This record gives sequence, structure tokens and C-alpha cells, in this order.
Amino acid sequence: MAQPDRRGGEPVPTHPLAVVSNREPYIHSRSADGSVAWSPTTGGVSVALDALMRERGGVWIAHGAGDADRLAVDDHDRVRVPPDAPAYDLRRIWLTDAEEHHYYEGFANEGLWPLCHVAHVKPVFRAEDWRVYQDINRRFAHTVHVELPDFPAPVFVQDYHLTLVPRFLRNLRPDARIALFWHIPFPHPDRLRICPYRREILEGLADCDLLAFQLERDRRNFLAAARAELGAKANGSGLQVGDRAMAVCAVPIGVDFDRIQTVTRSPTFAAEQGKLRRELRIDTALVGIGVDRLDYTKGIPERLSALDALFTRWPGLNRQLTFVQIAVPSRSTLGSYAAVEADIDRRVAAFNARHAREDGVGPIRYRKSALRMRRLAALYRLADLCIVSSLHDGMNLVAKEFVAAREDLGGVLVLSELAGAAQELTEAVIINPYDVEGFADGLQLALDMPAEERQRRMRALRRVVAGRDVFRWATEILEELENLDPRALPPAPGRLPGKR
Ligand code: UDP
Repeated sequence: MAQPDRRGGEPVPTHPLAVVSNREPYIHSRSADGSVAWSPTTGGVSVALDALMRERGGVWIAHGAGDADRLAVDDHDRVRVPPDAPAYDLRRIWLTDAEEHHYYEGFANEGLWPLCHVAHVKPVFRAEDWRVYQDINRRFAHTVHVELPDFPAPVFVQDYHLTLVPRFLRNLRPDARIALFWHIPFPHPDRLRICPYRREILEGLADCDLLAFQLERDRRNFLAAARAELGAKANGSGLQVGDRAMAVCAVPIGVDFDRIQTVTRSPTFAAEQGKLRRELRIDTALVGIGVDRLDYTKGIPERLSALDALFTRWPGLNRQLTFVQIAVPSRSTLGSYAAVEADIDRRVAAFNARHAREDGVGPIRYRKSALRMRRLAALYRLADLCIVSSLHDGMNLVAKEFVAAREDLGGVLVLSELAGAAQELTEAVIINPYDVEGFADGLQLALDMPAEERQRRMRALRRVVAGRDVFRWATEILEELENLDPRALPPAPGRLPGKR
């Protein structure tokens, strides 16, 4: 089957695909009245991979985390999605609370996450977490094996939750064609050495045909670690590990630029902005924003310190600038997350007390609930200033989404040099979140920036973000995977044959 190229070029052949991720693209949950409702998962990556799956057909294998997920599947734990326009199978994997606790919260998020992000939270590795992590990865691989058709459909695995899937799958299906995208930073070999299970993880990854990272730095770190720990040898731009060759590349992820643009062009968009302004009680001429998952890697306390320095330097700024901080709680059962949340709560309260106006209103509006893209785009568009101050970040999609929403060429992006996005978004005002005074200088520069320069910078940023959107990211990785092996794939049926 040939699909029209989304950029209007020649039709390109497409093949069914197997996506494997921890998070599912659609979730079923019980509504207050007891009925079952479904909703798509938010977040750029999910949306992009879903669009790709809708074009290509195939199967997406993920943890069924919704409280009504079991009610929606058939006898084989499959549900056709999107539920309102079925195009591919979602195959759900069930985890007990204890399994989720050890595999997801424990090994992935208390071990690998802090190992890979330099944010001074000590990684915790427990033997029991590791045991369950291996079991769950084996379960994912076995499910891919069961769901894969007889010909080698490409398997696209996502992220650090599933590092062992390539190895377990390779054992079951030597012919499988496997790519894994590592969304977060990959640590330098010296830091990786903290992990007692690093060899197994590297061996797991080495069974990919293609391993893709966000940045060249991550790619180099992996190559160095694989050479040091596995005795791998350089092979072109990839590696030779024993008798297997693997390709290793860096392909920075992007956002769905066109979709965000479409949202901002909607006839009701201005009304949405007005509504948001009222809800957030914004009555100042200037607006700054921060939009993050509530995570210790995002540098929110550092951002508050820099804002404190700025408001201290600039008397009267509290009558001119409102700062909106959206911080969506995540992984809240972990002590490290509860601690940063409590710290931010305390700092915001102290900040608002310290910098309150005569009428008692402080400059920060702090909201701890997630916004859907329509509202998020409205917020992006309200802002004169968007601050991304990560202490370490694989990419940071908020930075790119902000740029995508600014067709009006307004607003300045203030971006941490420690976020992956800073490699491409060089026309942002680049700051170091550890340098409070320098960070405050960056904020001042952004607020004082003449309109002409603001527009010039935003135009340049938009060229970068539009030129490398999330569809190009996925296509580049899958094309690279398909090009590794010249065997022709059979044409794509609407869905995977066989295994029902
Ligand atoms: N996001 C959202 N609603 C919110 C806040 C964030 O949908 O209220 C989305 C945001 O649009 C972005 C993602 O969450 O796509 C955050 O991605 P990012 O790379 O910035 O950070 P991560 O959370 O993956 O570490």
C-alpha cells in the first residue's frame, strides 16, 4: 500500500509497524456515572506515534494502566484504536501493583532516571526491582513475539523502561528488526558504572539493529560504554558487538508543528486565551510562563531563585509581570518527587509573600493540573517569556511547542544550556540554571528585548522547529532501520495478518 507523502511529494510505501512502549496511546477509564470513557494520552511523542500507526497499521504493545482498560479489550487483550476510527491494534499488558512498583517506580524511575539525569538525586538500585524489571521486559518481548506477523515488521521500542526487550525478543525471533529510541540523556561511562546491572542493560540494547539517541553526546556516551563494558568494536558509524553489527545514530525528536499551528489558528483561539487570562487572574502587561512535569530535573527551584533575583533588582516589576507556573505532578509516590514538590510549594508561597503588590496579590500563579493542547497553546501564546530551566533534559518538548505556537513571532524563549533542545534552539536566550545572577540577566535581557530582535530570533527558531517535526523524527528512524536491510518488506495490509 502506498500512502501519500505528508509533505506532498511522491507516495512512499508504508509497512505495518509494532510500537512497544510503557505508556499506552489510549486509556479507558470509568466515568462518575459508571460508564466507560476513553481518551488519548497527551504528550507529543504519543500523538506522533499514534499518527504514524494510523497511517501504517500494525500493533502497539503497552501497559494497560486505565481503570477500565480490561473492560475494553477482547479475549486476546487487544482493542482496536482510535476507538472512534479504528486503524490499528492496541495490545495491553497487565501489571500487578507490586510489578508496577518494582519495574516502573523502582528500577526505571528510582534507578535509571536519576542515573541518566545529572540532577544530584542518588540512583537507587535494588535487587528485587531489577528482578521484576527483567520479568516485565521479558513479558513485553514475549508479547511482541506473539503479536508479530510471520514477516519481519519493524519493531520500534521506546525508552529506558524497556532496555532488555531487544535482547529477549532477539532470542525469540532472530529475524526481528528492532529499533529503540532512548528519549533521555545517556550517561558517560564513568557515571553508568554506578549501575550494578549496566552490562546487562548494554547487552540488551546491543541486540537492536538500530539504536537512536537525541544528541550526538548521548550516542558517543553509549559507544564508549559499549566499548568499555562489552568489548564492542567501532563499525562505521555503529558498532560490532560479537557477531552482530548495530547502527547507532542521533536523531533529535520534534513536535507536531502543524497540529499546534492549526490549534492556534482556530476561530475560538482568542476566546480560549481570554478565558485563560481570566481564570489565572492575569492583570499585568507582561506574562511569563513555565510548563513542566513536576520533576527534580526541571530546575523549578532554580527558576524561582532567578525570578526572585529579578524581582529584587527591578522594583515595581510585581505590578508589571505575572508568572504562571504549570507543574503537573508525576511519580508522586517516590520520596524524591514528594520532596521537590514540597520544596516548590514552600518557595512559591515565600516568593508571593515577599513580592506581593499593595493589594496583597503575589506575582506567581501556580497550578498543579495538566492542560490539554488547546489550553496549553493558548498559554504559550499569552506569554512574553517562556522559561525552560532544566538541570538536565533529553530534549524538552515544551521549548519546541512554545516556538511552534508563536506564529505571531512574539515571546522570548529562555532556555537552559543543559536541555537537549539548546543544541538546536541556539537563538533562544541561553542560560545556566546554576548561575542565579546570570539567569536573572537572561530574564532581564528577554524582557528588555526590542521587538525586532525578538521577531528575528523567533523566526529563526521556528525554521528549526518546523524543519524537524516529530513526523520527520519517526520517519528518519524507521527509514534508517528499513535501509539497514535491503530485504523487501511485503506490502502493508490495513492490519497485521495472522495472529488473531
Ligand atoms: N504537557 C501537557 N500538559 C501540561 C503540561 C505538559 O500536555 O499541562 C505535555 C507537553 O505538551 C509536552 C510534555 O507534556 O509535550 C512534556 O514533555 P517534555 O519533553 O517537556 O518533558 P518530559 O515530561 O517528557 O520530561
